[in-house]
Amino acid sequence: MIYLKTDEEIELIKISAQVLGKAHAEVAKLISPGVTTKELDKVAEEFIRDHNGSPSFKGYNGFPAALCISVNEVVVHGFPSGYRLKEGDIISVDCGVFLNNYHSDSAFTYPVGEVKPEVKALLKRTYESLYAGIDKAVAGNRIGDVGFAVQSYVEQFGYGVVRELVGHGVGKFLHEGPEVPNYGRRGQGPQLKEGMTLAIEPMITLGKRSVVQEKDGWTIRTTDRLPAAHFEHTVAIRKGKAEILTTFEYIEQVLAERSMAIA
Ligand code: MG
Ligand code: MG
Repeated sequence: MIYLKTDEEIELIKISAQVLGKAHAEVAKLISPGVTTKELDKVAEEFIRDHNGSPSFKGYNGFPAALCISVNEVVVHGFPSGYRLKEGDIISVDCGVFLNNYHSDSAFTYPVGEVKPEVKALLKRTYESLYAGIDKAVAGNRIGDVGFAVQSYVEQFGYGVVRELVGHGVGKFLHEGPEVPNYGRRGQGPQLKEGMTLAIEPMITLGKRSVVQEKDGWTIRTTDRLPAAHFEHTVAIRKGKAEILTTFEYIEQVLAERSMAIA
């Protein structure tokens, strides 16, 4: 189902998204060699609950945690665990907040200490591809315009666009229609309408685009075990301009203070 939102509903998603952006920043402060991914999850969940929200992912189809934490070759849906981050890793932190009956959803991929230049470039370009997609998320365009923008931006660098997982409508439910693939053809697919709220989330691989699911039923990793990056915003479709409802502002303040900026 596609649910078009009123301005009031979009404002409620934005309130949820503010808590989400700040929860991400609490995690960003701690991204360092030696920290376990379970510790990051705990901090995010506490922050969300302290701000009257609940973590959208926890319990969703049985998912066990507040964060999806996906390290290196894991693309998405990794579990927080006792794994200790190490220098040279990259870590995708994906989080959702449910507050005032509305969900927001966003993800950011961080370098842990110094990472290889080609991996750093993957982060920066995947981040850029998110904004290339968002630019096309305006009323009157089609879903294929968004996917085409992401795909054409990253494929020029030889990267892979994961096909098996896609963005989605979000708001009343964590996952609503329409699907938002990170590939596509211009002018194809459902038309974007004022009041749609979409999670746009490029999942981009350094090597081949093929992925496999681990036996835990959740974790998605690249088949060739090369790294993948993932960035996500929740946006509202408006006439003329996509409105980004989630925010990386708080994350980026932390990264700037820690000299970890990726873009
Ligand atoms: Mg997400
Ligand atoms: Mg999502």
